[in-house]
Amino acid sequence: MLPIKKSVLDAVIAQAREELPYEACGYLAEKNGIVESAIALANIDKAADHFSMDPAEQFAAIKAMRGQGQRLCGVYHSHPETPARPSLEDIRLAYDPEISYVIISLADPERVEVKSFKISQGQVLAEEIQPIEEPSLVSDWEPEKETTMPSVIKGLPDESCVCQGGIGKVAVWTDSGNIAGRRAADQ
Ligand SMILES: [Zn+2]
Repeated sequence: MLPIKKSVLDAVIAQAREELPYEACGYLAEKNGIVESAIALANIDKAADHFSMDPAEQFAAIKAMRGQGQRLCGVYHSHPETPARPSLEDIRLAYDPEISYVIISLADPERVEVKSFKISQGQVLAEEIQPIEEPSLVSDWEPEKETTMPSVIKGLPDESCVCQGGIGKVAVWTDSGNIAGRRAADQ
């Protein structure tokens, strides 16, 4: 399973289209188990059926990831005209069994295919890609909930409906708080 931010997936597909007719390539960086950025790298071969990365760019990319607390977890490249399957050369050059090898196929421009594989000693194993919509990320939501709730609740008269004037997450929470309060009073 490869959880990846939807925006990263979109960026990688856009890059693959931009670099046609050549193969595009780059690194995927994860933090807390989710791929949160893609680093586009130049295909120094400028070929439609092959890619090579520039070692200096690779080094700089790894350094930038570390600076962000991220870790290299994937290598992606595009197949302009062939399916989203590792070629014999892709399999031969896969050097790390822990890394996800992601292939974007533009063979059918109407239906771009993105697939991920783990490759170990010549064995190819497909892995599911799980696109993550950003607002659903738990880390965006938890801290605000904890720090905002208590003070808002305290200042409320019992029957006021904050949800009409309130905004976003606070309103959602105080509304359910009021419902809970009313139930308790009914009994
Ligand atoms: Zn390939």
